Amino acid sequence: MGLNYREVRKVLKEIVGEEAVGVLETCKKKPLTDEEILKKTGLQLNTIRSLLNKLHFAGLVDYNREKNEKTNWFTYTWFVKKDKIPQIIKDYWEEKLKKLEARLDDESSYYYFECVNGCERLPFELAAEYDFKCPECGSEMKHISNKKVIESTVSEIKEIRKNLKKLDAK
Ligand SMILES: [Zn+2]
Repeated sequence: MGLNYREVRKVLKEIVGEEAVGVLETCKKKPLTDEEILKKTGLQLNTIRSLLNKLHFAGLVDYNREKNEKTNWFTYTWFVKKDKIPQIIKDYWEEKLKKLEARLDDESSYYYFECVNGCERLPFELAAEYDFKCPECGSEMKHISNKKVIESTVSEIKEIRKNLKKLDAK
């Protein structure tokens, strides 16, 4: 994977959030139980469990379950699925890329109108149905240039493509 740790962290944060990344980093070196994570992070047990569920759902962690023969309770030991991380990041970026491309398509093919008070933004056909009056406040709707939205979408797309290439690099 051609990404450095800072870059990996940034995208993981986008996927699961800062707190979950914190928990992930806690059990990065060696597998830990909920209780051990609690000691290391100082977070509430409920919070830890919900963050672990989130990480598990994202495919970033997994657990080994062990039964205590005396108490019949299960102990879960969590570990990071390090080798899955590149694929998870790749899937996330590809999904995001699809959304951005769809947005670009939309923005390029519609002529947008916006309420002068900023409450609504509608494509031409819809704005025309409302007679160019805002459905929220009744004020006039004016054509707005979406050049900026298009430009920022294009640059986001470029960035992700560049990152995807980097990810594939050895
Ligand atoms: Zn309005």
